[in-house]
Amino acid sequence: MSVHGRVGIGWDVHRLVEGRPLVLGGVKVPHGRGLLGHSDGDVVLHALADAVLGAAGLGDIGDQFAPEDPKFKDIESSIILHEALAGARALGLVPGNADIVLVAEEPRLGPLKKVIASRVAALMGLGPNAVNLKVKTAEGLGPVGAGEAMEAHAVVLLVPAAR
Ligand code: MG
Repeated sequence: MSVHGRVGIGWDVHRLVEGRPLVLGGVKVPHGRGLLGHSDGDVVLHALADAVLGAAGLGDIGDQFAPEDPKFKDIESSIILHEALAGARALGLVPGNADIVLVAEEPRLGPLKKVIASRVAALMGLGPNAVNLKVKTAEGLGPVGAGEAMEAHAVVLLVPAAR
């Protein structure tokens, strides 16, 4: 592909429920509740995978991981991200950097920002400075503010793979 880069955007939201582990960016976070989903519900990796697929022009994760397919039940979302990256790589594109916004009322995620960003960078095959994570609350507004859900936004730049 004779381009300098291709950008993609991703967004996701998952409901917070009792009796599920909380996994954010591939990191297990101690909390009384976790994200409901057919997979592990990792809202960060889902937003990222959608951003990768968008940048590659490959649609979205719903196209590739049908929510009703039992084969994907409770799978780790790192598999979803890896599939998205494999699709991009098949087109000669690799991630250049990612910027993520995670919106969660609680727990306090500020102290885990670097840990989650490093894990995401490792999953994407990037150096730690190539993944930036922002965590915000929703200021008590809406379902995210009420602690009923978490939301993530991601932007990913894909660049031509070195030959
Ligand atoms: Mg999702």
